[in-house]
Amino acid sequence: MNVTRATFDEVMVPNYNPAAMVPVRGEGSRVWDQDGAEYIDFAGGIAVNVLGHCHPELVNALTEQGNKLWHLSNVFTNEPALRLASKLTDATFADRVYFANSGAEANEAALKLARRWALDKFGEEKNQIIAFNKGFHGRTFFTVTVGGQSAYSDGFGPKPGAVDHCEYNNLEAFEKLISDKTCAVMMEPLQGEGGIISPDPDFVKGVRELCDKHNALLIFDEVQSGVGRTGHLYAYMGLGVTPDILTSAKSLGGGFPIGAMLTTTAIAEHLKPGTHGSTYGGNPLACAVAEKALDIVNTREVLSGVEAKEALYRELLGKINDKYNVFEEIRGKGMLLGCALNKEYEGRARDFLVASANEHLMVLVAGANVVRFAPSLIIPDEDIREGLARFERAVAAVVEAK
Ligand SMILES: *Cc1c(COP(=O)(O)O)cnc(C)c1O
Repeated sequence: MNVTRATFDEVMVPNYNPAAMVPVRGEGSRVWDQDGAEYIDFAGGIAVNVLGHCHPELVNALTEQGNKLWHLSNVFTNEPALRLASKLTDATFADRVYFANSGAEANEAALKLARRWALDKFGEEKNQIIAFNKGFHGRTFFTVTVGGQSAYSDGFGPKPGAVDHCEYNNLEAFEKLISDKTCAVMMEPLQGEGGIISPDPDFVKGVRELCDKHNALLIFDEVQSGVGRTGHLYAYMGLGVTPDILTSAKSLGGGFPIGAMLTTTAIAEHLKPGTHGSTYGGNPLACAVAEKALDIVNTREVLSGVEAKEALYRELLGKINDKYNVFEEIRGKGMLLGCALNKEYEGRARDFLVASANEHLMVLVAGANVVRFAPSLIIPDEDIREGLARFERAVAAVVEAK
């Protein structure tokens, strides 16, 4: 059966508008389309393909488990899930893990747990959830409501209640909003979709202190920032602030769908048998792949490599900007970088993405003003150099077309 990009418009719900080419194969940080044309991948499946495409050890883990056992449901537990949970709790503040299939589901579980915890311990009045403008937490109705972009949450009728937002990095505004009625605060310790916005360390510390003061749980959404992306296994480790609940997905499965919610024993207790669940969550295939991805990422070699690769990106992007003067700032951390456009190119991030695609380079945007890179943590330096040479040609094309 012959399928092309045109087939998409005939058979798919039109909620996406994918690129003109259809990728068919990937290896490391290179991808090939239906016509055999080759691309360099700086997008990493939106911060998912943490070890590139078809990493041999992940392929091994998948096929080995694929020949053993795929699915059981949560009527039974399984070895890969138990091993992965043990490794995650060993590596983090957490004692307990709940597995889901995506970031939104991990966040949904975190929010439901927080509401349960507050109801059990303090009663009905303590139900407020505070989150931040421009934050992104997924697309279920609860998580999209907690996210700070009404463009994503409006248009679906009445929203889940008791959700309030305030400005990121504004401790004064946050202090005015939080009270003893606050049950939880959800934040990204580096805003991804919102435009690659780093938190001010004092802001994060202040949020933690105010959560403690008002007995509110602090939930870090590390779906995008986690699993080595910032050069720390989780971004909280670089901030010196520990959350009560942490969610992880995207890079966790290295390309295989999985999500996880991590927390302490005392908080976890409030999700008693029957209170929450998922048919596929914690399935052996996903957990076997994630276990291998975690083993590889959580090493000195990979994590310090992220730092070195960030330095290379920054050096070469700086040179491009010296020549073309299009970026106001290169921001973000590790392999989650944003090129924020200056006033002259305001609102034109998509033009840079399209020009990059024309040069056979896959990049992302984060809002209208930021070109985002979220490549493999082990992207070879030669692919960074070649990719940025293509990016320079793309930048030149946008500048010339002006
Ligand atoms: C992508 C993302 C999500 C949603 O994850 P899905 O797997 O798409 O449900 C949630 N939070 C953050 C910070 C994300 O970047």
